[in-house]
Amino acid sequence: MTFDFLLLNPWIYDFAAYDFWLKPYGLLFIGGKLRKLGYSIYYLDLLDPFHPELPKKPKRKSFGTGHFYKEFFPKPVYFQDVPRKFYRYGLPLKILKNILKSIKFKAILITCTLTYWYPGLIALIKFLTSHYPETPIYIGGIYAKLCYNHLKSLIENHYSDYPIFIVTEHHEDFLNQLLKLYPPSKEPHKHDYPIFDLQSCIPYVIIMTSLGCPFNCPYCASKRLYPKFEPRNPEEIFKEILFWHKTYKVVDFAFYDDALLFNFENHLRLILENIINHNLILRFHTPNAIHARFVNKEVAHLLKKAGFKTIRIGLERVENRFDNKVSIEEFLQAVAYLKEAGFKEKELGAYFLYGIPEENFEEVKKGLLFLAEKRVPPYLAEFSPIPGTPFFEKAKITSRYPIDEDPIFHNNTIFPALKRPDWQKIQEIKALARKIRHSLCN
Ligand code: SF4
Repeated sequence: MTFDFLLLNPWIYDFAAYDFWLKPYGLLFIGGKLRKLGYSIYYLDLLDPFHPELPKKPKRKSFGTGHFYKEFFPKPVYFQDVPRKFYRYGLPLKILKNILKSIKFKAILITCTLTYWYPGLIALIKFLTSHYPETPIYIGGIYAKLCYNHLKSLIENHYSDYPIFIVTEHHEDFLNQLLKLYPPSKEPHKHDYPIFDLQSCIPYVIIMTSLGCPFNCPYCASKRLYPKFEPRNPEEIFKEILFWHKTYKVVDFAFYDDALLFNFENHLRLILENIINHNLILRFHTPNAIHARFVNKEVAHLLKKAGFKTIRIGLERVENRFDNKVSIEEFLQAVAYLKEAGFKEKELGAYFLYGIPEENFEEVKKGLLFLAEKRVPPYLAEFSPIPGTPFFEKAKITSRYPIDEDPIFHNNTIFPALKRPDWQKIQEIKALARKIRHSLCN
């Protein structure tokens, strides 16, 4: 069968990867837009945990989350000091080969999300260029945007003979380019929703009600990826949620927004009221965290009534705070409102950032104990340096790796900002966070 475009989500090579509502949203989004223009799409997620030919089914957990299929992979030499095993996550190569045997396509679109996951992209490029040397390949995603020069030099040095293009422009400009090059082969699809229906299973759907964030925290990629905050039409978002629920019986929805509660009155409130008025029994999750500052009594009440099940709050630190998105008082007030609205402790959680340049582990420990005392489960977020942010510049000085030369060193598992990670201390911190969560959530 011949398709206009083959869309691919590459493997991940890493110490850890977990499907905590982890999808290549940008690729799925572009797929939806292409289909609406009349293009035929074949989508292959190399991380697909439901693929029927997987040698072993990965364990799945609640709310659509779960493990990916993984195989041991030799740990890169420069990570030998990291006391963790290394894996390749995703489908074995022979499954990819089998699938591609039965299809033809005019061009390939590939994404790469985290900057340090580019080896998965490169492994795929190597395979594709050897089997389809004439087929144009378009690479987009967060890595291409944040590390454009790195990707460009990799292509120039190793794949300059192949038609490979880096996509960093706005999606509308990119779609216009494709329209000039490839005439659509089909009638336009009835909607332009992201192509979740082309997955082998839809355990959950990602929703983005806006792009970007009005804040500018010194460690975050949001401003670099989306310089402008762009909210979407609330009525359209409700229709999208309704479509997935009615057509595919999806009940779990994860918001990927960076600022979900911003301008709540004119935005999320309208979506939630619609959900409540239609008596939809859905479960909502906020893996990207919400801003405590925007939680008041009414917001908390509506979140509860609409079916939010996983609320993560961006706290980052307790002492020595370095962003202005929330104060401790605002954080505690938000937690109080959420609990008053009926949220259980196990449904709440605070992201606690650690592993920052010149980390003070005593301070981290005190922060975790503070959360234990306030009965808020802590979720540790290991620091990863994001190019173009003030914290990246600091990490360049403190890191034991050349983080500005190779994004592989942005991996948060290796604690790239630390000169000499004390692995024993790191284990203790992780164990403490686990113990607190266990005592609050069980
Ligand atoms: S509030 Fe969150 S998303 Fe916004 S800039 Fe800060 S860390 Fe990033």
